[in-house]
Amino acid sequence: MKDFERLKNECIQEVTRLGIQLGPVTSWSINTRAKSRWGLCTRHPDGTYSIEIAESLLTDERISEQSCKETMIHELLHTCKGCMRHTGTWKRYAEVINAYYGYHIKRVTEGAEKGVENYEGTAEQYKYVFTCGNCGATIYRKRDSKFTRNYRHYGCARCGAVAWSRRTL
Ligand SMILES: [Zn+2]
Ligand SMILES: [Zn+2]
Repeated sequence: MKDFERLKNECIQEVTRLGIQLGPVTSWSINTRAKSRWGLCTRHPDGTYSIEIAESLLTDERISEQSCKETMIHELLHTCKGCMRHTGTWKRYAEVINAYYGYHIKRVTEGAEKGVENYEGTAEQYKYVFTCGNCGATIYRKRDSKFTRNYRHYGCARCGAVAWSRRTL
């Protein structure tokens, strides 16, 4: 599980450090239901904003912190003046941030670019599921790799235990 608070604060700092002025965000939430988007920014009538982030960005170990932050910054940029669309100022800010920090913030990001399948995908598309016998972490793999063949020798990214078990789906 990624540290939501830390990542959020890093994103805000990285954006504001470049002189980009963010709008007032009054709430951040983690969406556990939506399966069709990584993030959402809503503008309220009083000029404040709410940002929602898909839970899987935080919980899915296949998705990097950078990928998670790219979505957070994508949504944060929508709070800037004149940035509700993905054109004009939003696009220019995204390009500046990408160039400065090496991010890949785009209008739409496919699951494959985050290292996972799209939300529509189900477990049936995966070939294997690995479960850590110590902490219960679960990872899915679509095809054979060094890891899928030698999983017995790999430690868990979460708890460090060498205790993977493999199930073929
Ligand atoms: Zn957007
Ligand atoms: Zn573990």
